[in-house]
Amino acid sequence: APAVVWFRFDLRLSDNPALTAAANSGRPLVGLYVLDETGHGSRPLGAAARWWLAGSLRALQSALARAGVPLILRRGPATAVISAVLRETGAGLIAWNPRPMPAEQAADDSVRDIVAAALPHVAIADGQRRTCLLHDPAAVRGRVFTPFWKTLTAKLAPPPPLPVPRLRAGPRIDSDRLADWRLEPTAPDWAGGLRDTWTPGEAGAASRLASFLDGGIEGYATLRDRPDLAHVSMLSPHLRFGEITPGQVWHTVQMALASGRAATADAEKFLSELGWREFAYNLLHHHPDIAAANLQARFDAFPWQPDDALLRAWQRGATGYPIVDAGMRQLWRTGWMHNRVRMVVASFLVKHLLQDWRAGEAWFWDTLVDADPASNPASWQWVAGCGADAAPYFRIFNPILQGERFDPDGAYVRRFVPELAGLPNAAIHQPWRATPVERAAAGVRLGDTYPAPIVEHTRARNRALAAFGEIKSNA
Ligand code: FAD
Repeated sequence: APAVVWFRFDLRLSDNPALTAAANSGRPLVGLYVLDETGHGSRPLGAAARWWLAGSLRALQSALARAGVPLILRRGPATAVISAVLRETGAGLIAWNPRPMPAEQAADDSVRDIVAAALPHVAIADGQRRTCLLHDPAAVRGRVFTPFWKTLTAKLAPPPPLPVPRLRAGPRIDSDRLADWRLEPTAPDWAGGLRDTWTPGEAGAASRLASFLDGGIEGYATLRDRPDLAHVSMLSPHLRFGEITPGQVWHTVQMALASGRAATADAEKFLSELGWREFAYNLLHHHPDIAAANLQARFDAFPWQPDDALLRAWQRGATGYPIVDAGMRQLWRTGWMHNRVRMVVASFLVKHLLQDWRAGEAWFWDTLVDADPASNPASWQWVAGCGADAAPYFRIFNPILQGERFDPDGAYVRRFVPELAGLPNAAIHQPWRATPVERAAAGVRLGDTYPAPIVEHTRARNRALAAFGEIKSNA
């Protein structure tokens, strides 16, 4: 009797304990992906993540097909779909990897119970080995990053990643057509920039990591803050969809260190960023409503000033602050934004525009290919000042100085805000400072070809501090 491998956000063949357990049973294999839009256990994907999912499933389907193994696609509540697939394939085993969150674990428990009750002859391999994180979020509790990461690194050395097992082809049963799931946009097709930027799937993930280790990591410790340079890994969507595991990344970086291909400072800094991902999952584990509720309750009384026009200007990259607009347009075009700029745009929305962080979090959720149920809300709360170990609210980024410091020649702004490209460096982050002659030469007419700033920095800063003053005493 065949084995069914139920794939979730572990869309890969290597370092996949469920696939390995099923393959090692010697049974012929059937892969299964269930699109469960009933929301059991997980947040419905945003548009950019749905695009990614389609690409990732296609890549997995072809990787499995090379061994003759089908990937069956079905839509519906997981419990019903899985029982049906087990019956149709006559399976004797079902295997899946544990997921990190309590709600997902509860959803998996109900599948286990139903299979055990209705199909008692089907063995269940839902392994104990967790590959989506480096640690078990139930085992550590940390509200401050540095001691959290210290505790973890003291224990760390994830087990060596598993190789791709030998696969035997199983029976092909009815499958939905991926196109019928409408995960990808048709008209309008807004995904051109995503296609130009990314190769979803395990092979794409491996080549991102390889090219990062082949030069990108050099100087990471300092240059990771520069959006105009290519010194970050861009692995986030691959990690999000489980096309690569943090353990694989960890071991590959250790090898690069051992062979002298990476410097200690760069490798340690890079691995500590993986630590922030762990930290976010830890917070989500202990605060399942992290996308909805302030971690610091005093922020419940924060006097947000919801304003759709301001929110829309921010979403569209039309705030009049070039670094903010470049970031928002990078997000729209490529489904990703550099970390430094994420911090700047998030701070701008929450502090300069006094919009609730949840509105920004929701926009990111819909537009990021790496939109992550832990890292996204945790980072928004961090920037807004209401999170765990958060940046203090009164630390308000000056978008002009941030631009000048981290995009010193304006190359990043020129790339994403081409209508400013002709301005001299001294004015690229504050076009209103350019002389009329410079503006004319660059073809820039403020309020016409490019917006005038929607808020004035110093006024906005003072207004934000006053708003914070209203809740400060509730500390
Ligand atoms: P690298 O610098 O190469 O880092 C390697 C990996 O470490 C990343 O792929 C990511 O998995 C992890 N990582 C790095 N920085 C962080 C961080 N601050 N928090 C958590 N994990 C981190 N990251 C997401 O993966 N999904 C999100 O939805 C997300 N939303 C964010 C929202 C805001 C407002 C901010 C400020 C940050 C957010 N981040 C999010 C964190 C971070 O910006 C991205 O992980 C990073 O930019 C991804 O690029 P990279 O893979 O090149 O990172």
